[in-house]
Amino acid sequence: MVRVEAENLGLMTSYSECIAGILSELGIASDYGASRGLELQPEAAELVTARVLANGRELKLAPEAAAAWEAMRSAAAGEGIPLLLISGFRSVAYQREILERKRAQGEAMDAILRVNAAPGYSEHHTGRAVDIGTPGCPPLEEAFEQTEAFHWLQQEAGRFGFRLSFPRNNPHGIIFEPWHWMNG
Ligand SMILES: [Zn+2]
Repeated sequence: MVRVEAENLGLMTSYSECIAGILSELGIASDYGASRGLELQPEAAELVTARVLANGRELKLAPEAAAAWEAMRSAAAGEGIPLLLISGFRSVAYQREILERKRAQGEAMDAILRVNAAPGYSEHHTGRAVDIGTPGCPPLEEAFEQTEAFHWLQQEAGRFGFRLSFPRNNPHGIIFEPWHWMNG
């Protein structure tokens, strides 16, 4: 048991060192996580396919989160509320690509970090975060707050172990994300 814990600690240390290196390369302050109250998010060890998009791309979640998502989606559908999975697991490498692409397009890192967590700190790394949409509402926009889907989630998501991570005026310096829910 002690040995397992020591190995886990070793893994976390190398993960945090790896992330620190990426932050440095992106020009993000080394106290990014501490100053924003954001914790390192480990990458999921196991993933299952939760949705296949029309273009064939697979959205993946950790197994327990996938089951919770399916139960919640099904319950909402039963009440006439369609919930769509828009985004699930994202790797650290992919998160880094998102930031690098935005920076290459001329966006300031401070502005990028209000919308995207730094690599290593996105809840999507765990495979337990979902971005949710609903037909008739543009994806990943604050207008989702006005939908029946969001009202339903506010009432019912807790029953399935999901919580809203970034409410309005959250202390993490991240924009209000009514679509982003974390399981567990
Ligand atoms: Zn999200």
